Amino acid sequence: MYDANHLIRQLRDSSIGREEDVFARLPDGGTVTFGALFAGAERMAAALAAQGVQPGDRVAVQVQKTIQAIELYLGTVMAGGIFLPLNTAYTGPEVAYFAGDASPRVVVCDPARLEEISAIAGGAQILTLDAAGQGSLRDLAEAQDGFDPVSRQPDDLAAILYTSGTTGRSKGAMLSHDNLASNSLTLRDCWRFTQDDVLIHALPIFHTHGLFVATNVALFAGAQVVFLPGFDADAILEAMPAATALMGVPTFYTRLLADARLTRERAANMRLFISGSAPLLVDTHEQWQARTGHRILERYGMTETNMSTSNPYEGERRAGTVGFPLPGVEARVMRDGAEVPAGEIGVLEVRGPNVFQGYWQMPEKTAEELKPDGWFITGDMAKIDADGYVTIVGREKDLIITGGFNVYPKEVESLIDDLPGVLESAVIGVPHPDFGEGVVAVVVPEGEGTSAEAIKTALSGQLAKFKQPKEIILLDALPRNTMGKVQKKALREAYAGLFA
Ligand code: AMP
Repeated sequence: MYDANHLIRQLRDSSIGREEDVFARLPDGGTVTFGALFAGAERMAAALAAQGVQPGDRVAVQVQKTIQAIELYLGTVMAGGIFLPLNTAYTGPEVAYFAGDASPRVVVCDPARLEEISAIAGGAQILTLDAAGQGSLRDLAEAQDGFDPVSRQPDDLAAILYTSGTTGRSKGAMLSHDNLASNSLTLRDCWRFTQDDVLIHALPIFHTHGLFVATNVALFAGAQVVFLPGFDADAILEAMPAATALMGVPTFYTRLLADARLTRERAANMRLFISGSAPLLVDTHEQWQARTGHRILERYGMTETNMSTSNPYEGERRAGTVGFPLPGVEARVMRDGAEVPAGEIGVLEVRGPNVFQGYWQMPEKTAEELKPDGWFITGDMAKIDADGYVTIVGREKDLIITGGFNVYPKEVESLIDDLPGVLESAVIGVPHPDFGEGVVAVVVPEGEGTSAEAIKTALSGQLAKFKQPKEIILLDALPRNTMGKVQKKALREAYAGLFA
């Protein structure tokens, strides 16, 4: 009974009666209809149930991006299971940690890693799915008939997504059916997604952005997706004239801007470009508008909260900000236990139906970050202006304390990024014998380039002495993860000995 399963019912609602319509366009020219997608998901659910998956069991999945992987996500939720996607870049020992922590009933991996994963997956059943959507799971699924989705209530878990774990152990964020459903509904409506949309889907599906924001919103709207295995400038530019929307991380936009084929004409049919998962540079925003005539809509969220804020669809999309709290979501900025006045920086907290259920088997961590009254401490430093726009100024752990003074990296980065000959920068604190931490700027030059001296001189008149970088390092590129986030931890480690 589709009606009995809170999330699945809503994912399917918009395509009832449209079973023959195309949901996904594949790179090889093939298509997948809504009817085929849900039939495939039912067979996956039946295959999982045949492997003993019961409601509440975890299904851990480390596979390439394919339509069969989407069917596996839907099938897991249909079977009442908890979908647990893993970054394809995770190594054996990392997968072993997740398998040990989450004790999945089934692990699905690439056939090439079958032996390695079998050795570390504990008592789980191991099935395979490759980059062509083939493998033992597919074989098992093909032998199944339909499946009646298992009854699941709004508060039941649908997924566990592990955080990237930049500090300490990675934590499993527990997301309920309603966490996902309520957020998808809100985003669909805020961003005006309908069945007329064609979304270019080039994000990975092991992360909240590609799995929930892109896939769920498209399904909630009954929209079509151009389903790409990953970022591919050629494929995206080729798809653009017949598409209406793109969701990307900031690097998507900078890479597309570097391609001369990105023009106003090519983007003429597009109605919406959305960016998130990492800060979009003001410069990128402006260049994008100049080139395409579109203002990128930037939104903010995290694994634990789904999406929390968004720039408006109608109204001013303000570069450098992440817009307003979404309908039904509250946001506040706190310092020393009290809410700060408008425009002042503190730690952002959010509350609403989007906020997760806690960290898997970590009650103490959950209690530290999720208050009994529902406010979640995001760990992001932010300010909310008098007119309600939220600006993220960076992670709390990236805050630099030098000689007892707080330095918010973003303030320094914004000034450096505006200098001629600079593409972008990352400002970090590294151990310093006198000051505790010393401010270091890692800068990527652009065009004619720049020098450490030129940057120092330019900043000296603009920033208090304690905020000025004591060292400036020029690099060809900043280290980034797959979601386009600058890896400040890696930079801090690389330059830890700078002032020793
Ligand atoms: P993740 O859980 O991997 O999605 O990472 C969430 C984190 O990414 C947030 O806590 C923010 O630090 C950062 N983030 C996401 N979206 C934005 C944005 N639009 N601007 C700045 N930071 C962002």
